[in-house]
Amino acid sequence: MTLTPRPGILEVAPYVGGEASVPGVKRVMRLASNENPLGASPRAISAYSVLKDDLNRYPDGAAARLRQALAEAEGLDPARIVCGAGSDELIALLVRGYAGPGDEVLHSAHGFLMYSIAAKTAGATPVAAPERDLTADVEALLARVTGRTRLVFLANPNNPTGSYLSADQVRALRDGLPDEVLLVIDAAYAEYVEEADYSSGAELVEAGDNVVMTRTFSKIHGLASLRLGWAYCPPGVADVLNRLRGPFNVTQAAQAAGAAAVSDTEHVARSRRHNVQWRAWLAENLSAAGLRPYPSVGNFILVEVPGDPETGADAALAYLKARGILVRAMAAYGLPKCLRISIGTEEETRATAEALAEFAAAAGGAP
Ligand SMILES: *Cc1c(COP(=O)(O)O)cnc(C)c1O
Repeated sequence: MTLTPRPGILEVAPYVGGEASVPGVKRVMRLASNENPLGASPRAISAYSVLKDDLNRYPDGAAARLRQALAEAEGLDPARIVCGAGSDELIALLVRGYAGPGDEVLHSAHGFLMYSIAAKTAGATPVAAPERDLTADVEALLARVTGRTRLVFLANPNNPTGSYLSADQVRALRDGLPDEVLLVIDAAYAEYVEEADYSSGAELVEAGDNVVMTRTFSKIHGLASLRLGWAYCPPGVADVLNRLRGPFNVTQAAQAAGAAAVSDTEHVARSRRHNVQWRAWLAENLSAAGLRPYPSVGNFILVEVPGDPETGADAALAYLKARGILVRAMAAYGLPKCLRISIGTEEETRATAEALAEFAAAAGGAP
């Protein structure tokens, strides 16, 4: 007999994160992972720094102060909040808690990759529902529900497409699902959305016992390095997550920095304003260069590069990389003609638009 992992695990294609360096290039522009180009809140940085004197101490396993800070800032019940080492951990724990071999985990075709990875690692079967205009389609999702469906994941807004569903559409999805199916609304980019018909989904969580909302500190709060996320849950789901998670799954530094970040509403507002301004500017300039940006409510833009993948998106990726600009290839998401570009600083955004305009002009000029 040979040592064998559980079924499904070797079918997992390991998640590949955005590139962070280019050999030979000293200063790279990192626009591949949707990080906050303005950095973390100064308050979060100083809260983190203070923790260096207590590295010998275990963290508060209940993350009480952080949950209290989140509850106050968002008008939520702290007892329903569970913190995790990034929302990725919470996504994996939700699947482990509610699905296993023989069960199905439903998501939309270009939904965040972690959903199918988490399903496979739990031995469950990921099922993708088609989208309409690169947007989750409520009817198509409901049509894929079977007696084996245990969870439905909806990234709202979605990464990498940048599209979103209105609060009414998400409610229609919940209303159409059987009661015993858990709907997980992954609102990693909620803070960036300004559309009036959008909701992160907290009110749906409170309306029943089968909706969870996940959030992250990795995006607008600029704390990706610390690995911090949270879930807003019905009491029964919070209980399951609290049994499954490691007793000290979130470091004290992350808890302290997170609580400080939540209190810095000015930094959040500044980050949102920067994003709105430069996202619009980038979309306009990509269009002017002959590329096809999709509408986005997140801190990134999905853009289609004309031509086949090799001469279009792949070549554009290499062109940018040679200039120290790192963006994300989209073949793993089934979008080989596209790139995903995070909104960077003004300098980074201008440099990216300029390089892509040069690339498109050169490509368009070729016979
Ligand atoms: C970035 C991202 C996350 C988050 O991740 P963390 O593990 O909290 O860093 C979750 N969902 C989506 C859709 C994302 O894009």
